[in-house]
Amino acid sequence: MSSLTPNAASAPKPSLRAKPRPFGTGTPRARGPSARRPLASLGLYVHIPFCAARCPYCDFATAPARSALRSRYMEALDVEIRREGLSLGRPRVATLYVGGGTPSLLEPDEVARLGAALRDAFDLRPVEATVEANPATLDRARLESWAALGITRLSLGAQSLSAAGLHALGRTHQPEDIAPAVAAARSVGFDVNLDLIFGWPGQTAAAWREDLAAAVALGPDHLSCYPLELALEPEEAVANWPGAGWRSVERWRRRAAASQPDDAGIAGLYELAERVLGQNGYRHYEIANWALPGKRCRHNLGYWRNGDWLGVGAGAHSHLAGVRSRDVGVLPAYIAAIDRGGERIVDSAADDAVDTAMLALRLDDGLDLVRYGSRFGQDAAARVRTALCSLDGTRLLRWSGERVRLTARGRLLANEVFVRLLPDDTSSVSTSVQ
Ligand code: SF4
Repeated sequence: MSSLTPNAASAPKPSLRAKPRPFGTGTPRARGPSARRPLASLGLYVHIPFCAARCPYCDFATAPARSALRSRYMEALDVEIRREGLSLGRPRVATLYVGGGTPSLLEPDEVARLGAALRDAFDLRPVEATVEANPATLDRARLESWAALGITRLSLGAQSLSAAGLHALGRTHQPEDIAPAVAAARSVGFDVNLDLIFGWPGQTAAAWREDLAAAVALGPDHLSCYPLELALEPEEAVANWPGAGWRSVERWRRRAAASQPDDAGIAGLYELAERVLGQNGYRHYEIANWALPGKRCRHNLGYWRNGDWLGVGAGAHSHLAGVRSRDVGVLPAYIAAIDRGGERIVDSAADDAVDTAMLALRLDDGLDLVRYGSRFGQDAAARVRTALCSLDGTRLLRWSGERVRLTARGRLLANEVFVRLLPDDTSSVSTSVQ
């Protein structure tokens, strides 16, 4: 693969995707009110794992919508939200993101109970509040329940606007479901993001150009374009899908991987997205994200700036006071952990300074080494400067004083940059994508 996305072989952290994702393994640790310092404000991520069907490429923490554990999960989530809010001193939620899974298929009464827990536990005054949705799961009653919770933005998992693309991805919705979903979100005043996937099996540049044109025609405020990544090791959430065994998923992924465009093809599709979206007024601001002016996703900016965020729900990740942790992603284990008092898996191998540098470079704003030095110390800033200066002459980075950014070529080969930031790096620069 080209280096549009960090991968396990080179730079395992952080992922291209906007959702909180694994940053490594760790050990369960109890946490309690005494382990925390109060926070003034944070970003809050709430994970709803339930999906109507399992998309074969997806390795997020998901579970069947008809799971017998659904009501127990929602009760455990309620307990976790209240416990965390108390533990952190009822901080202000500056941004809220309800992701999944498919949160849009929650029933209005489930949304109302979730909203009550959030308001009791936190000072819920977000400047932006997003809910993820799948086309064909939205109706007026559900949208109004999310609006009553304070949602301002809908992130729609369109993935492709062509029948061929949706079929190749194993999706169950149809292209004609997407425009009504956008219109429904607009009718309750939400901003709209469309998620698109490129590099699906057999996709041509012409097909991707048509997808982009169809997406732009819907007038979203924001677009996220992710290359199709296919994990060939079973993810934790496999255990949540009895009857949909790993073997059939693995077979699907291996077949799909064999007919994806090659590295140069993926790079070409990415460059096409940069051109088409730029020509239509969307400003690129992160490797995989474009927005109309003023419509960047503030919650996700919190991730890329490596700020404080709390994730609640199965598989959700947190970064609080420089410590990364996550909840277990298997539903019975998550419910049991909450019953026991809420132990989390702490990523003791995470290096906050390294993560912060990598995440900052994903943004077009880049990494400001003066501010970085104020946060992590001058020695850390000097280490990063030395590592990045070793790439002089590769056309991967552009310096403006103490600020450094990826070039267009650097975005395609971002892993080659990120790997330099890892301790004990001995790599050389690949020239596979020119
Ligand atoms: S891609 Fe979305 S809808 Fe499909 S299984 Fe994953 S979270 Fe659920």
